[in-house]
Amino acid sequence: MPRVDRTDPKRSKSSESSYSLMEFMRAFPDDEACLQWLWRTRFSPDGKHAYCEKCKQDRVFKRYATKQRRFSWTCTGCGRHKSATAGTIYESSATALNLWFYAGYLLTSTRCGISAKQLEREIGVTYKTAWRMLNKLRKIAMADDSGPLSGDVEIDETSVDGRPRKQQGEPLPVPDRPSEAAKPRERSRATVVAAVERGGRIKATVLPSRRGPQLKRQVVEWVEPESILITDDWPAYHGLDRHFIDHSRINHSAGYYVQGDTHTNTVEAFFGHLKPAIRGTHRKVSHRWLQGYLNEFVWRRNARLSRNPMFE
Ligand SMILES: [Zn+2]
Repeated sequence: MPRVDRTDPKRSKSSESSYSLMEFMRAFPDDEACLQWLWRTRFSPDGKHAYCEKCKQDRVFKRYATKQRRFSWTCTGCGRHKSATAGTIYESSATALNLWFYAGYLLTSTRCGISAKQLEREIGVTYKTAWRMLNKLRKIAMADDSGPLSGDVEIDETSVDGRPRKQQGEPLPVPDRPSEAAKPRERSRATVVAAVERGGRIKATVLPSRRGPQLKRQVVEWVEPESILITDDWPAYHGLDRHFIDHSRINHSAGYYVQGDTHTNTVEAFFGHLKPAIRGTHRKVSHRWLQGYLNEFVWRRNARLSRNPMFE
């Protein structure tokens, strides 16, 4: 039998995991380790020198172990403090950094994400805290800030089940005309539009309506003009051809789904993964939080293209 190094287990070649829980725990065992990581990653690669805004140059920074300055390093030239967490979602949080990092680890290492209930159990905080942490991670840390898409770009829209928001103390309105009876149901389904670069990145957002102007505006904002757009024959996409070099449409309503390169299978596959995952992990998602879940899904998919471990 070949010798194996018990301290450095090998993954099978087919494993999708690039960062195991054991590796995570070794790297971020406690609050202090996370703080050091933030300091080095954000400001000081060598852990000693950082740029001082007051001295306007790189200076040696020292850590003074007083309770109040726990998160800061101090410039040895002028005494200015620099906080490793300033401007991050961890700033002024009462929750330990290693719990935040672990929540981030769970969000990025699982295929379908995690629910607040599950996080509550995993890290031993209240449901409210767990919920707030996930919401911040999704809304801020996972927000898409990448540039527009280009090349062959598939666009499609879909409805996602949601819970309509009920105003506090207000009973649901009783419809007095048959046409209004359908409205609450329509309101409980949110429109999600997504754009996928073939072989590349994806973008997705919640729109208040799937009708014309908003949908068009979103597409123009997301996609470079030198791109080829591929959509179905939903009327809201009419007229987009003048913004792009070409616009191919697949006639879904006539029963066509693939004609040569003209299909929206890539973006439909994304929806096909998104919907059951939202249903499975979160049951129903109110419209207000849906964008956060979308960020999470888009983030996870786009992160696969990057060589860095997802968690980082
Ligand atoms: Zn200074």
